Amino acid sequence: MNLQNKVTAIKGIGPRKSVALNKLNIESIEDFFFFYPRDYEDRRELRNIISLRDGMTALVKGKLILMIKGRGRIPRKQTLKLFVQDETGGMEVVFFHAGFLEKTLQKNEEYLFYGKVSVTMGKIQMLHPDVSKYEPDQEQAIMPVYPLTGGISQGEMRKWQRTAMTYLSELEEYLPENTLERNRLCGIRYAVEHIHYPDDRKQLMEAKYRLIFEELLFLQTGLLAIKNKMISKEAGIRFSASARMEAFTGLLPYGLTGAQKRVLSEINQDMESAKTMNRLVQGDVGSGKTIIAAAAMYKAVKSGFQTVMMAPTELLARQHFEGLKSEFLNYDFKVGFLSGSIPPKEKKDILKQIETGELDIIIGTHAVIQPGVKFSSLGLVITDEQHRFGVNQRALLSKKGENPDVLVMTATPIPRTLAVILYGDLDISIIDEMPPGRQQILTRAVKSDGREASYEFVKREVMKGRQAYIVAPLIEDSENLDAKSALGLYDELKNRFHDFSVAFLHGAMKQTDKDLIMKRFHEGEIQILISTVVIEVGINVPNATVMLIENAERFGLAQLHQLRGRVGRGEEQSYCILISDGGSQVAGARAEIMKSTNDGFLIAEKDLELRGPGEFFGMRQHGVPELKLADLVRHIKILNTVREEAERLLLEDPMLAGMNHAKLKGKIDKMFKNTENLNI
Ligand code: ADP
Ligand code: MG
Repeated sequence: MNLQNKVTAIKGIGPRKSVALNKLNIESIEDFFFFYPRDYEDRRELRNIISLRDGMTALVKGKLILMIKGRGRIPRKQTLKLFVQDETGGMEVVFFHAGFLEKTLQKNEEYLFYGKVSVTMGKIQMLHPDVSKYEPDQEQAIMPVYPLTGGISQGEMRKWQRTAMTYLSELEEYLPENTLERNRLCGIRYAVEHIHYPDDRKQLMEAKYRLIFEELLFLQTGLLAIKNKMISKEAGIRFSASARMEAFTGLLPYGLTGAQKRVLSEINQDMESAKTMNRLVQGDVGSGKTIIAAAAMYKAVKSGFQTVMMAPTELLARQHFEGLKSEFLNYDFKVGFLSGSIPPKEKKDILKQIETGELDIIIGTHAVIQPGVKFSSLGLVITDEQHRFGVNQRALLSKKGENPDVLVMTATPIPRTLAVILYGDLDISIIDEMPPGRQQILTRAVKSDGREASYEFVKREVMKGRQAYIVAPLIEDSENLDAKSALGLYDELKNRFHDFSVAFLHGAMKQTDKDLIMKRFHEGEIQILISTVVIEVGINVPNATVMLIENAERFGLAQLHQLRGRVGRGEEQSYCILISDGGSQVAGARAEIMKSTNDGFLIAEKDLELRGPGEFFGMRQHGVPELKLADLVRHIKILNTVREEAERLLLEDPMLAGMNHAKLKGKIDKMFKNTENLNI
């Protein structure tokens, strides 16, 4: 058997089952090896019924004495009760929605029941245990429990895993000998065998350690390799020391915060040195990153270079364009705007002005990385809200110049643990201080019965001259989803708030329409803006004081925090209202966190603690491959060892091109194959 053969090579797996398996990312025989159990059932010890205690999970062998089928219209959904006996006593076994289980059981036969025990008032019960016929020579082992998908049963998965495991001897080691030895890792066959079928805890731990280690190693090595490719080792531009940022910042109507000053001096140092700047500026929403970018741009232009800033949405790019144009009004800088939506003729002119060097500062969307855009002397490249861009897009932007300095800005706070592995040797500057006079945004979570009062509140704020955002998860009503839509709300609220000017904004609108609405909202002409999450990023309207979020349970913490950051940008007290009727426990916990703090970094840390399956603050947002066993919080110690190992491997063989690294490289490539959106 070739391990790369499709799963259908296994007897019993036809096209239908194979589709279901594909959903679990099991396509080849080998994939079974790396599809790990989510849990184990310890079936080594048979228990007497008399020894069962409330809350324990146990394996019981018992004779089926009696079956009672409950009533109900639909036979499949009827309850089935069994009375089971062993030498020591009797217990009741209950199945709700028992299906046709009854037909597979026979009175007076012996069965094994594995499940959770409840004892109430002396009555011993098992709810929904696993049932199997007792075979005298049956092995009592630690059984794997697999995560499943529709169309596959636990029994099937176990059977196929068993079959796949018979080909385990064909699996070859892919970690270099040295790596195994240095880190005392067990071999891959041992690890695979015992992650599925451990005889005891020790074996399981050995197997797990190796597999967690390799998972983190693939991740870390892959990330470092990408980084090595991106960070230029060649000499960079030395920007002029006489082009002093203070000459620009000194004329601002406000003084910079201490944090802003510190970050600017870090940037200044990078820019004046011969090393190519590669710096991430992390600062919570409203911490004043734009002016940092402006100061760096000032220095670049004064030193005789062009500079470009790329923003993820047209809305944001335009806002930066308008803002920076007025920031530089008193200088003889030429500022241009480029996006996909500007008319061809105008675009041609701008492209020419970029190429001849007539434009000093170019602000735009992804349009700035298109092949037709050529700069004459690009010295500084800035991306705003970098978590929206992929690694490749950023690399493309840098390639528009010859080793330009790079500044990336993000409002997405990244927990320290994550920053270490994601950013590695990228320099990080943190703006950990807000401009003075900002108030805490008061956050309240209400159920839908609090909607009326919330709308009244919005009304009062607007009457005071303030503005409000109302955000819904969907654009239009959907039959399939039970959630508010922005359009539905707009229809409802434009009547309710008929004395006010209400507008509707969503991402699929024509650019010119969006721009017009934002402009009118900015100028205060629109008082209530009903929208989807398009307003999430970077929008700055200081007079807006209310952010009302419908179906808050549908948003992640990062998103909620970003949305909330749209208010509290001026002098007035601002408010965030989260409307939600439940959702998961995690959603509830998220609302609690939002209520308790405004600090983005703290929120990120909390989210890391809280994250449920499949939702990991930052990781997904950063397009980082999913981890199966490893946990970046719990395994931080292993991660440190892994990092050393990854660095050693890349030092030895920077491209992992050696024969002895070919298999390892294959594994890393596989892990990173779906990461076009990776942005680090
Ligand atoms: P973000 O970090 O979210 O991009 P912005 O750069 O949009 O934040 O800044 C938010 C607002 O704060 C802007 O109106 C900006 O002019 C203002 N601002 C920035 N720095 C200061 C400061 N040191 N003092 C007062 N206001 C500031
Ligand atoms: Mg910003």
